[in-house]
Amino acid sequence: MLQQWQRQLDTEWSTEQQRPAEVRRVAGELAESHWVAHRQTKALEAVTIALAAMASPEVARCMYCEHDRGCQIDHAEPKARAHHRTFAWENHVWSCGNCNQKKTALYHPQMVIPTDDNPLEHLDLVPSGRWVARDDSPRGTATLQAMPFLNDQLIVQARARGRRTVIDEIDKLAQRASVTQNEFDVLREKVTRDPFSDVFAALLSTLLLPGAKDLVAPRVVEFVRAHPEMYAWLADDDAQRWRDAWPAIESAAASMKVRLDAASDNQAP
Ligand SMILES: [Zn+2]
Repeated sequence: MLQQWQRQLDTEWSTEQQRPAEVRRVAGELAESHWVAHRQTKALEAVTIALAAMASPEVARCMYCEHDRGCQIDHAEPKARAHHRTFAWENHVWSCGNCNQKKTALYHPQMVIPTDDNPLEHLDLVPSGRWVARDDSPRGTATLQAMPFLNDQLIVQARARGRRTVIDEIDKLAQRASVTQNEFDVLREKVTRDPFSDVFAALLSTLLLPGAKDLVAPRVVEFVRAHPEMYAWLADDDAQRWRDAWPAIESAAASMKVRLDAASDNQAP
C-alpha cells in the first residue's frame, strides 16, 4: 500500500516536471499533499502503532527528545528534501511535533536515525544531563548540529536528575553485602520505566567505557558489571512491547489486505 502511494507520488512528480517552471509545484509541497491525503488511513495507522511500540515504554515518547507531547510520524529525511521517501517505512520515526518541525530545517544527512541506528554508539550522556558526541563521532556531532534543542536547558536538567536517581538506586543495592531477588526486581521496575528508561540505557552504555570509573562511582560500576543481566532488561521490555502491539498492527494491515512479514524483524506494511 505504501509503495503504491509512493509510486503515485513519483509519477505525479515526473508529470509536474514537464510543466512550465512558473506553475510547477516544488517536490516538498507535492509530497506533503500526498502525505496529508493518506494520513488517516489504516496503512499509516499500522505504521503509527508499530512506531509507538518501538518508542520508549508506557507513553511512547518522542524518539529524538523523549518528550511525550503530540507524537506523530516524522520523516527522518524530510519530505521537502526526499519526496521519493515520503511513504518509505524506514524513513518513518516517532516524533513529537516540536522535533518534527524544527528538524526539517536543520536536517543533516549524517544524523543518527533512532529507528535504524543505536544512538548510544554515537552519543554519551554526561553527568550534567547533556548529550555529547562519543569520541567526537561525526554522526553524533551531526545529530547535535541538526537537533541542538536535544540539549535545551529544561530537558538537560531533567535528565541530570534522572541520571542521579538511577545511580542512587543502583548504589543502594551496591552498598549491601547481599541482594534478594525481590530487591533486584524492584530496581528493575524502577529504572526501566518512565522517566528513567532512557537515562538508564545511557548509563549502561557509559559503564562499558574503559574510563567508566572516572565518571560514575566505582562501586556502581562494579555492581553493574557483576550483574550483566541488567543489560537485557530494556531489550526484553522492547521485545514484549512489540509482541503486545503486533495484533493491532496485524489487524490494521489485514483490513487493507496487506501482507506482513514476521514481527521479529520490525517489518511494517
Ligand atoms: Zn521530540
